[in-house]
Amino acid sequence: MEVELLEATDDPEELICSAARNDYASAFVGDQTFAETMDTVEGDSIRAKKETLIGHLLSHGHFGPFEHPQATFAIEGMSRSCMAQLTRHRHVSFDVQSMRYVAFDDVDPEAVGDGEMVVTPPSATDPDWIGRNQQSGTVDEETVEKREEVFRDSVQRSVEEYQRLLDLGMPPEDARFVLPIGTEVNVVMSMNARTLMHVADMRAAADAQWEIRGLTEEVLDYAAEWCPVTFEYYEEHMKHRKNRLAP
Ligand SMILES: Cc1cc2nc3c(=O)[nH]c(=O)nc-3n(C[C@H](O)[C@H](O)[C@H](O)COP(=O)(O)OP(=O)(O)OC[C@H]3O[C@@H](n4cnc5c(N)ncnc54)[C@H](O)[C@@H]3O)c2cc1C
Repeated sequence: MEVELLEATDDPEELICSAARNDYASAFVGDQTFAETMDTVEGDSIRAKKETLIGHLLSHGHFGPFEHPQATFAIEGMSRSCMAQLTRHRHVSFDVQSMRYVAFDDVDPEAVGDGEMVVTPPSATDPDWIGRNQQSGTVDEETVEKREEVFRDSVQRSVEEYQRLLDLGMPPEDARFVLPIGTEVNVVMSMNARTLMHVADMRAAADAQWEIRGLTEEVLDYAAEWCPVTFEYYEEHMKHRKNRLAP
């Protein structure tokens, strides 16, 4: 899976602070410079003042100002299983690659058997892999080789059968019913900084599945550059305290 930041609000933390200062100031933030807006906030630099105010907002549960900045990500090659988990989040906006208008008619089924087009879970190839909620433990090499063989045969066969159905004139939107849930999909998603923290609360957690956890950690890496004060505070004080932002 590949994750790219497509677009994000410029200076998101200036926006967060301006929105928050609006709540407590008699002056109109629209008529002020940012330095004037932050004048009475403790700190000897703009960065220090942002740290003071953002830390105060997050520690007191004043989350509204974090809904103003927005970021858009493009994700390539997520499984449809992972997409089903991700799209449960109702405050995230999505565009999902269509299986009605995009057909996998020119994919080589043998390449699918080699790992293209369908995401391979680590438990199919790594004998030492143990997912958090997985019932089974580690296995020997022979067992994992069998797992991989069954997995690869199965995904290859389903793509062969999908393409046979297309050859028989079945529309892609119906032929897709035989494709595996691990079939890759490209997604564009947008969310605000508050929702990003909430999704991270749930999906970067140890009991989330490996694929959505990996995705969320990558999104958090971008967030740390985009909104540094906020996500530094989040990492230090809030991460792994499940659903702090929206129980
Ligand atoms: C480890 C894990 C396992 C899961 N397993 C399953 C499963 O087996 N089956 C399954 O169906 N789902 C499962 N889920 C999905 C989970 O139940 C949620 O639907 C999903 O994570 C979306 O998160 P959210 O509920 O916080 O809602 P979001 O859509 O992200 O909304 C954010 C917050 O807004 C508020 N909110 C939004 N809509 C409403 C509303 N209508 N009413 C009240 N408050 C609202 C809530 O405070 C919510 O937390 C799982 C999630 C995780 C993390």
